[in-house]
Parts: sequence; structure tokens; C-alpha cells
Amino acid sequence: MNRKEFLTTTFSAGLGLAFMPGLLSCSTAGLMGRTVFEPLIPSAGNLSKVRGNVSRFTNRGGTVGVFETKDGFVIIDSQFPDAIQPVLDAVSTKGKPLAFLCNTHHHGDHTSGNIAFKDSNTKIVAHRRVPELQHLAAEKSNKVSEQRYATFLFDKEYKIDLGNEKVTGHHFGNGHTYGDVMYHFEKDNVVHMGDLMFINMIPVYRTADGSDSRNWIRVLEKAQATFDNDTVFIFGHANKPEFTTGTKANLKEMANFLEASNEFVMKAIREGKSTEQLVKEQPFIPGFENRTTPERYKGYLDELRKTLAG
Ligand SMILES: [Zn+2]
Repeated sequence: MNRKEFLTTTFSAGLGLAFMPGLLSCSTAGLMGRTVFEPLIPSAGNLSKVRGNVSRFTNRGGTVGVFETKDGFVIIDSQFPDAIQPVLDAVSTKGKPLAFLCNTHHHGDHTSGNIAFKDSNTKIVAHRRVPELQHLAAEKSNKVSEQRYATFLFDKEYKIDLGNEKVTGHHFGNGHTYGDVMYHFEKDNVVHMGDLMFINMIPVYRTADGSDSRNWIRVLEKAQATFDNDTVFIFGHANKPEFTTGTKANLKEMANFLEASNEFVMKAIREGKSTEQLVKEQPFIPGFENRTTPERYKGYLDELRKTLAG
């Protein structure tokens, strides 16, 4: 229980709610005048409460954010149609609209499930670059007919106003892709970081999609400066579901990893070393044995070379 919830609970008790014990538990007592809902119970995958009315869902693909308000739901990212279906089924039992689907970026493990959102009234939000990048990727994988694209597009900032509740999308520049957005659930102070955050693994890094390790560090610094120390963050990928949420310390670690990666590859460029040589001599980025992903390592170093040689 954080301090805010504690004070609210105490104050509510003073108003006579002490006679309603159910309202005093952490799971149901919220901010003044605000209902805190029990998390959804999907038939598959792993859903757990992050804080307040925000949950995170892992199944197959990037971590999904689920936000419930009294008037409807906001979902962040959609994995794949079969992977997101248990969440959609659980939402449909609540009798409230699925008001918004927000994409953190265009990658298939975050947008392929968009098509499973059948309600045409659901507004799909993303950075303005996402539809073109998503379409390009779909052409390459022969899946053009299986896409649903965001139509509420923005460049720097997008505010979703749900009456008492606010969700704000921020684009601080390209780190992982050209269309990276982090979404801030303001009342619960939870931020979904999308694939700007990978925990205990080497991130997916493709220069053609907009990956830029130097800018990525700046984007993470901007996030640390924008959100306060109480903020809980949801991460796009982690080696275990329980590591898909964390704090600013995780953002700092990710930035340090990118910094170490840049130094490691710059040194290799200066010394005229090939990527093959590097992989043989050093099986992980120095200082980051926790981020050993053998199948991704060589490609990561090759792509970093492209960023840093320019
Ligand atoms: Zn991605």
C-alpha cells in the first residue's frame, strides 16, 4: 500500500466506510471518489495488477497494458490475435466498451493482434510513423490483409481524456523504432515503455526501423526526467513475466547497457576488429552478463556498427 492509498483509506474510514470492510482492502480502496477494479481474469496468459486500475498481461509477444475505468477500457499493444483473445474475452464480460487501443510502436508482436479488436468504435492510437512502418513490415511478411492500423496519430504528445482519468502518450524521439511511444496512466502513475525497455536480454535493434543507440539513451534520460520517483514502469520484454515491471533504476540500467554497447563497438571500429572476432573474444557486452542473448548478439553488434560508423 503506498502512502496516498493509505491516507485515502484512513480518510474514507473517517467518513463511515469502516462499516464496509470490503472497501478498506488495498484491492478496492482507491483515491477519493474513484473505484479501483479487481484485475481481469483471462483464460490464458499471465495477468497481474501493476497499481490501481492498471494491469499487465504477458502471453506471446510484447507485454500488454490493461487499464479499466468506470466507462471503459484502454489497452496498450495487442500481441497476436490468438494471444490477446483471452483479454478481449475477459473485457467483454464487463459490459463496458473497449474505448482505446494504443500501440507503442509498429513491430508485429505489438500490433498483429489489432485485427482481433472487432469493435469499430475502438479508437486506435499510435505515433504518426507507425502505420507506414507496420504496412511495410506486413508487405515483407505477406500479411497485409491481417492488419488493422491506428487512425488517431500524433507526433509528440497525445492526451486521452476519460473524464476523471487521463492517459498521455509521449514520443521523445526514436530509440527502438521511429514510432516509439510511452503511455502514462496519470492517476495510477504507471508508464508503459513498450520496447524502449528490454530486461535481462539484448534488445531487438534494427537501424532500418529507426533503432539508434545514442538517441535511445537520450529518450531514456528524458523519461527519467519527466516521470517522478514513484512511477512504476511496464517493460516490453523481460526474461520472466515478473520482471516486466520496475522502476527508474531499470531505465538507468538499460541506458548504461546501451552506453557500454556503444563503447564496446566504437573500440572495435577503432581497432579494426570484425564482429566475428568480437563475438569470439567476448560473449556478452562487458559488464552485462545478465543480457546474454546468443541468437541476437552478432546481429546486434553488426547493426550498432551501422549506427556508430556514420
Ligand atoms: Zn519492438
